[in-house]
Amino acid sequence: MAYQVLYRKYRPQTFDEVVGQDHIVKTLLNAVHKNKISHAYLFCGPRGTGKTSIAKIFAKALNCISEDKIPCGECENCKAIADGSFPDLFELDAASNNSVDNIRDLIEGASYQPLQGRYKIYILDEVHMLSASAANALLKTLEEPPAHVIFILATTDPQKLLPTILSRCQRYNFTKVSDEDMKRRIKEILEKEKIEYEEKALDIICDLADGCVRDALSYLDEALAYGDYTLKTADLIQMFGLLTKDAKVELLIDMRSRRIDDAITKTKALYREGVDIKALTQDLIKIFKDLVIYNETQSERLLVTIAKEDADKLATVYTNEEALTAIDILIRALEVYRKGQDQLSYFEIVILKIADLKTDKKERPKTSSVFDEEIKLVEKKPDVKLELDEVKMKKDDIIAVLKTASREQKSQDVIIYERLRDFSFDENKRRYFALLKDTEIFASSKDMIVFGAYTESGAHQINDIDNNKDLYYFLIDEFGIDKMVYALGPSEKETVIRSFRASADEEFIPYEVVRYPKRENKDLVSKLEETFGKVEVIDE
Ligand SMILES: [Zn+2]
Repeated sequence: MAYQVLYRKYRPQTFDEVVGQDHIVKTLLNAVHKNKISHAYLFCGPRGTGKTSIAKIFAKALNCISEDKIPCGECENCKAIADGSFPDLFELDAASNNSVDNIRDLIEGASYQPLQGRYKIYILDEVHMLSASAANALLKTLEEPPAHVIFILATTDPQKLLPTILSRCQRYNFTKVSDEDMKRRIKEILEKEKIEYEEKALDIICDLADGCVRDALSYLDEALAYGDYTLKTADLIQMFGLLTKDAKVELLIDMRSRRIDDAITKTKALYREGVDIKALTQDLIKIFKDLVIYNETQSERLLVTIAKEDADKLATVYTNEEALTAIDILIRALEVYRKGQDQLSYFEIVILKIADLKTDKKERPKTSSVFDEEIKLVEKKPDVKLELDEVKMKKDDIIAVLKTASREQKSQDVIIYERLRDFSFDENKRRYFALLKDTEIFASSKDMIVFGAYTESGAHQINDIDNNKDLYYFLIDEFGIDKMVYALGPSEKETVIRSFRASADEEFIPYEVVRYPKRENKDLVSKLEETFGKVEVIDE
């Protein structure tokens, strides 16, 4: 028999097999037993925490014909749901099928009685990805669902849903699976599969997976393939490019000694060698935690991740207060990665932030480096919003814009580049040079310029909401170009080009470009300042 990946093989089939989410399982089971069924459920939570698995098990529970254990996993309905042949279960992944037609096709027959089960179940995954018109079409059915219809919506991003949809649903918040639960599950699987393992290797897998069961099992799969069907710590370190402890300590010392070039160059090299930035970030948090505890207690016994010599070395460059702030910065980074931000580029910002922590120690020497420009960008605003709240366009909308783009528009807009270098000498406008220097105009319509950025981080910078807005006004002021801007990174650009080619014959709903609002007087003040120097605003 062909090898079946563990994630599929051990996908939970009944509520007993679900890892974590105890509170949700309990509530859903209660609802079935007491026959208090709602018509719409919303499962929210991070990826890989069991939303769709539980949705399917719940679908079984609602249609199971067993007398005792529900869902039994044995009856004809349970089996049909498991093998995908149940005629009353409808699934849609809104990430790839988000048009209004997709929704119409899906719910077309909703008003007819179920063919085989008690309920018709509609599972909509990544429901926040539905287009506006699709979401509205869905809403119509959600508002007056036939008695035999149940919707289970799943999303990683509930804040993107229409409030009218949210208010129709009973909401369940899925949480990341704890290391303890995860470890128990992995052990169970390893024992069933009769695989030898090192206990420490389980910790590494849990660390890497960060609460996501699917990831844990795919890491396990990879490790087993690599390690000839045994699970060894050394293999994991090798495979996943985990850094040795010494290298991590050295990196932290580089950051703090303002050898920023070194730290960034090293990180980039590590990244190319396959080092997992998220795992690295988590490890650095642990090192700092050790350091703080050690500084407070001087107890070697309490050190978990680093040795006494490492702690002593680090203590010469980090005060406890700085180490605690660094922990905050790193925790924040983990949150940002989770939102799909380019990890390497955000980690570079982390390096800059940690290098720049306020300190009472003697002033650190100023270094000049190739990163000066970026540092200035970061320092410019006192409370830089490193979370990079981004403008995000859907792929279909980008393609809709491309359909209206023209060569003429583009050839007019390339004048931006002719003067770009001049701005690098202007202190007030240098940041626009920095934002645009590594880009080209990918497409231009009468309402919008789509830039192709040479790096992912370059694209993120342009789409950062503050930068994006400033850039919009900058283009008006300097070039009289009144167009919204958006940037694609190299990988997104590839995807867009491919979809654009594939969509040659498709009709697209025109994307309505909404511009930023006209500026108010305070911008007038700054304009005056540019011309006349500091202007006093006299308030009456
Ligand atoms: Zn059953």
